[in-house]
Amino acid sequence: MKKIIAVIIVLILLPAGWILVRTFNAKPWPSHKAAPLAALPDSALLHLSMAIRIPTVSPQDPSRIDTSVFVRYRTLLENAYPLIHQRLTRDIVTGFSYIYTWKGTDPSLPPLILMAHYDVVPVEPSAIKLWTTQPFSGEIKGDTVWGRGAVDDKCSMISIMEAVEALLRQNYTPRRSVLLCFGHNEESTGQGAAAIARLLQQRGIHAGMVVDEGGEITREKIPGVRRPVGLIGIGEKGYATFELLAEKTGGHSSRPDKETAVDMLARALYKLRQEKTPHRILDPTREFLTRISGSSNKFMDKMALNNLWLFEGYVLYKMGEDKDGRAMTSTTIVPTILESGVRENVIPSQAKAIVNTRILPGESIKEVEAFIRRGVDDDRIKIRLAGDFATEPSSMTDYHSDAFKKVADAAVAVSDDLIPTPFIMVGATDSRNFRTISDGVINFCPTTDSKGYHGIDERLPVKDFQRAVQFYTLLING
Ligand SMILES: [Zn+2]
Repeated sequence: MKKIIAVIIVLILLPAGWILVRTFNAKPWPSHKAAPLAALPDSALLHLSMAIRIPTVSPQDPSRIDTSVFVRYRTLLENAYPLIHQRLTRDIVTGFSYIYTWKGTDPSLPPLILMAHYDVVPVEPSAIKLWTTQPFSGEIKGDTVWGRGAVDDKCSMISIMEAVEALLRQNYTPRRSVLLCFGHNEESTGQGAAAIARLLQQRGIHAGMVVDEGGEITREKIPGVRRPVGLIGIGEKGYATFELLAEKTGGHSSRPDKETAVDMLARALYKLRQEKTPHRILDPTREFLTRISGSSNKFMDKMALNNLWLFEGYVLYKMGEDKDGRAMTSTTIVPTILESGVRENVIPSQAKAIVNTRILPGESIKEVEAFIRRGVDDDRIKIRLAGDFATEPSSMTDYHSDAFKKVADAAVAVSDDLIPTPFIMVGATDSRNFRTISDGVINFCPTTDSKGYHGIDERLPVKDFQRAVQFYTLLING
């Protein structure tokens, strides 16, 4: 008997000891000091400010684009960046999207593509009074540049242009060719960037690396980790929108049936929201958790992250508790538009919901549709794919690849103590079109916890602008 008890104690103590050893021995990602950020010429800030002042708003319907505004923006680029316009060739694609080609000295090297978009989302008229500055003022106030587009995504575009113009001033020529690709309707259809990708494919271009907006540095989003974490995008979730339609003869609201179309739809949506989509830790997410595991200052988190073999279920549960964690580990499904009824005293015969989904890599639009059908569990609800845009989850760039390493190195070089990690993006960007011409698509710009994009008080600290210019310079030099 004593022997059995001893064996049981050993069986419990051994794993417990092993878990504690792994927890206390967990090494944080190596610390480092980045070189000081180079000062920018005053003209750089002025250029960003002027770019924000031109309201290159993407209308929902691309045919309603205000071309005069986009022409003004083109003139600004030509005046602000004379050397780029002298020494690089420019293709104008679908009216206002651009490819600038900077020929390298070694044609055998696959080119580098730096991307950005310069259209912006509109500012709701009712929100203007909530802004600290006028939304399109481009005001420079307290070491910060304010205005719609400051972050999304004129920061990237102007930083790329500043980096290239400065290198041209030094008579620098890159070894590999560098292509600058700028879309003008990313916020609506993304057709500009799609056309650029098609054109480059026709020209037989295969890029070693493509860097677009998406991931950034965070100091705020990962609880318990005090160091900055570079979320380097290596793939995108899919996107699909579905319509759910309930129909039942309506009538006078004084004599309602037991069940109406609105009741049917409400029940369907409620049931759908109760259903949990499968939660999974994908390989890049596991790598992300591993890289931050040694830097968590919460004991339970540190223990769980360093012993995922035992605590994966607990980590998944914890991640499922908050919206960022949920978005990283599962397909999300949420109603965004409800439509029904025309008068207060008429029972509507139709009720419609628009449901937006973001699909985890490894799943498909078809599977999500089947999940919605099962969740709703009512054959009377008609379900169909809707909306102008749907895309399956993208392929994922290998985080052992050269492209990932180069972006990680450049990010580390411009930010003290950064932990660079792979990251699956929850939104879709122009770069998804470029996966046909490159295995090295990466989404990252070294801004830090950007504020106000698509919302109120969009703004960019000057420090982040400096960081971005230096980051693109390093990528071109690399
Ligand atoms: Zn954007």
